[in-house]
Amino acid sequence: MTTFTPMARALPARRLGLAGHEQAHGVLPLAAFDGREGRRRLIAEVTAAGLRGRGGGGFPTARKLAAVRGRRPIVVANGCEGDPLSSKDRTLLGLAPHLVLDGIQLAAHAVAATEAVLCLHEGSRARASVEGALAERRADPVPVRIVDVPPRYVASEESALVHYLTTGDARPTGKEPRPAERGVDRRPTLVDNVDTLAQLALIARQGAGTYRRTRMDLVTINGAVRQAGVLEVPPETTAAELIGYAGGPARPVQAVLMGGYGGTWLPWTAATAAGPAVGAAPGIASMHVLPASACGLAFTAKVLTHLADESARQCGPCMFGLPAIAADLTGLVAGDRHTLGRLERRLPLVTGRGACAHPDGAVRLAASALRVFGQDVTAHLRERRCTAHYGGSR
Ligand code: SF4
Repeated sequence: MTTFTPMARALPARRLGLAGHEQAHGVLPLAAFDGREGRRRLIAEVTAAGLRGRGGGGFPTARKLAAVRGRRPIVVANGCEGDPLSSKDRTLLGLAPHLVLDGIQLAAHAVAATEAVLCLHEGSRARASVEGALAERRADPVPVRIVDVPPRYVASEESALVHYLTTGDARPTGKEPRPAERGVDRRPTLVDNVDTLAQLALIARQGAGTYRRTRMDLVTINGAVRQAGVLEVPPETTAAELIGYAGGPARPVQAVLMGGYGGTWLPWTAATAAGPAVGAAPGIASMHVLPASACGLAFTAKVLTHLADESARQCGPCMFGLPAIAADLTGLVAGDRHTLGRLERRLPLVTGRGACAHPDGAVRLAASALRVFGQDVTAHLRERRCTAHYGGSR
C-alpha cells in the first residue's frame, strides 16, 4: 500500500541539497509505484490531483502521461522559461532542483522512459544548481542530461524543443504530430515544464487528496510592487492579495498584465473584483503590475515588438502579421490616426493562423490593451502623442 509524507511546499527559503530535500520531502517514492500496476496508479493519482501543465498551456498532465506509448520513450523537462515576465522556473530550479529531478524520475517511470533531458536556455542561472543536484544523485534509474537551448522566446515552445533535440534547429514545427506520438528522433516523447514535474513529485508523496486540499502555485509578480519576485500561494489568491504578499504597491496601480507576454490586461478595478488571479487568464503564472503613471499602450507596443523580433518568421502571421501589429501599435502611441482601424482589421486575421500559438498570444495581448486602455487610445489620437513618462517595465 502507498504511504505518503505530509504536505510540503515546493519552494524552500534557501537551496536544498539532497540531504535537506529528503529531510523536507522524504525519499523519491518510486518503490510505491513499482511495476506496470504502479505506473497506472501514479497516473491515476495525477488525474485525481487535477494537475495541469504549468508552462502556460494548462493541458491535463495525466492525459499527456497516458498518451506516451511505443518504443523507447523519452522525457523532456522544459526549464527554459523564455517569457521575460516569468522567473518561477529558474527560482524553482535554483532552490529546489531535487524536487524537479524527482518529478523527472517519476514521469520517466510513468511512461517507461529510460532517458531524460532537462532543457535550459544557454547561460541559464539555474544550470549550476541543477548540475550540483545531478552530481549528488547516484541512485536514479534514469540518466538525466542537461541540454542548452538557444535563448530565444519561441525556442522553448514544445515542438521547437523536440525539433532542436532532433535536428539542432530550435524553431517550432506545429501542433502535429504530437510529441507523444512522434517526438525526439521520432520516439514517443513527454515534454513537461519543470514546475509541473515538481508538482508531480509532490503528488506522488502526498496523494491526490492532500495535494488538492493543500495545493500551492508558483507565480511571478513584478512591476510596481515593493518586492518583485516569485511567490508560492494558494490557487484562490486574488490579485490584490498577491500585491499584498509582494510588499504592497510601490505606486498607485492602473492595470495588471496576467499571463506574461502572451497574456491579458485587466483594469485594476476588474482585477480586484475578480476571483483567483493565478490561472485566471491564459498563459504563464505571472502578474505584471502597471502603475497609474505608465502608458499601457507604450508598454504593450514594446512587448509586441519583442514578440515580433523573437518569432521564428516561418509562417505568415509571424513574418508579416506581428511586425505590422507592433508597428501599428507603436504608431498609435505616437498618435498616428490611421493605425487604429488597421489594428482592428488585422488582429482577427492573425489568430489561429500560425503553426504554433505564438501569434495568438500576441494578438490576445494587443486586443486586451485596446480594450483596457481605450481612453488612452482616444487621448493619444487626440493629442497626437504619448503624454505618459513611463512606457516600460521596472
Ligand atoms: S507561428 Fe510564428 S513562431 Fe510559430 S511556428 Fe510559425 S513562425 Fe514560428
